[in-house]
Amino acid sequence: LAVHLVSFLFSKLQEDPTKKVDRFLHAMRLHDDQLRDISARFLSEMKKGLSAQSSAAATVKMLPTHVRSTPDGSEKGQFLTLDFGGSVFKVLHVKVREEMGIRRGEVEMEEKTYPIPKGLLEGKGSELFDHVSESLKDFLQEKNISLEKKHPLAFTFSFPCEQSSLSQGLLLSWSKNVRARGVLGKDVVQALREAIDRTGGMNVEVLAMVNDTVATMMTCGFEDRRCEVGLIVGTGTNACYMEELRHIDLVEGDEGRMCVNTDWGAFGDDGALKDVITEYDREVDAASNNAGRQIFEKMVSGMYLGELVRLVVLKMARLGLLFDGHVSDALKTKGKITTAHVAAMEETKNGLKNTRSILMGLNLTPSQNDCVAVQHVGTIVSFRSSNLVAAGLAAILTQIQRNRNLRTFRVSVGVDGTVYKTHPQYPKRLHKVLKRLLPECRVRFILSNSGSSKGAALVTAVAQRLASQKQK
Ligand code: BGC
Ligand code: MG
Repeated sequence: LAVHLVSFLFSKLQEDPTKKVDRFLHAMRLHDDQLRDISARFLSEMKKGLSAQSSAAATVKMLPTHVRSTPDGSEKGQFLTLDFGGSVFKVLHVKVREEMGIRRGEVEMEEKTYPIPKGLLEGKGSELFDHVSESLKDFLQEKNISLEKKHPLAFTFSFPCEQSSLSQGLLLSWSKNVRARGVLGKDVVQALREAIDRTGGMNVEVLAMVNDTVATMMTCGFEDRRCEVGLIVGTGTNACYMEELRHIDLVEGDEGRMCVNTDWGAFGDDGALKDVITEYDREVDAASNNAGRQIFEKMVSGMYLGELVRLVVLKMARLGLLFDGHVSDALKTKGKITTAHVAAMEETKNGLKNTRSILMGLNLTPSQNDCVAVQHVGTIVSFRSSNLVAAGLAAILTQIQRNRNLRTFRVSVGVDGTVYKTHPQYPKRLHKVLKRLLPECRVRFILSNSGSSKGAALVTAVAQRLASQKQK
């Protein structure tokens, strides 16, 4: 009888397909001690980036943004905004508290999204900027915005830039799906101004350039004064926060604060994540258009999560652990599983059904157990992403906490990005892990709506407010 019982239990165990995936992917399941360790490495990389002696060698660049204050709610003005981050390009007309009667903190806006032909993302930089400025002109005409009056314009540009002022930024590297030629090391504000001149017939003045994380922090900061961190988990990933000026060697002055764009996607480019990286990460990296760079981003962001899932599923199938060892051509093709698929697999009610139809769409005939297993692969891959983001955030919040000498504190984080916004389980996992890593800190996450576009206008509005306060 005992023998029967044991073999019965054993077969039950064998039947649970998530167990097999757990074992197979154990290297992707990071426990809290590992996350604390990663967080500590991250914090020391941040310090490296802030210090004058070591910043050149730091992977986490800690770029000064010249944004010195979050909004206080009294900002006003009308601005044009361009938002370019790779996958989409948007033009906006933003009114900050222009009309009387609008409640404090109100921002009104009109926007239009312009597609960018893929060729332009990999072509000549000047042609990419021409497309941007022609779209701007189209927008002005369509919305009947006068071409004569001078319009202040703010530019959200979601790539790492070295800024010596708000209105200047040298592109350090492309990331995500962009690699236009002839822009590296150039001032992108100048490139935009030149393109606007080439297009002609517009009267705009480019006043500021900001990273999308900074814009997101500012948008959320308009409604919540505790918001001192901006986070993006979308096609790419990144975070910024308010740092003490005395810690920013590269900017003169010791008084007050400045927002620092960590550009954390490059964490690990020097091998700092060697012990947590898997063969799937190496494969994704090797097949990308920036091999060896943005290692953290490739483990976290929407451009890569689907591909990681595909590579794991393919490997398991080849080993006979899925689909009776059957592999389809579609499953072998890069990009066939997207991050949107991964999000659909984890829908609370329809997740399993979605998983089945996604796999059938790849010309596979999955059993029920196969579906459960593949869904679990998606869970592990996206869970790891939220864990890594929590580790990065914990480092940033620890830095803020130490800066202010606080034992417990409250802070708000402005968030944007498709992964955070569309993956059904992502936010709550992230919040939970962060709480475990940093129990003494009360974090409020504020989802920003179009924060990365709106915020550039707010950066300009705040700069104008500070300038006028100085005059007084
Ligand atoms: C870029 C960051 C950006 C992030 C989110 C990354 O690839 O390096 O500058 O903030 O994507 O868009
Ligand atoms: Mg300083």
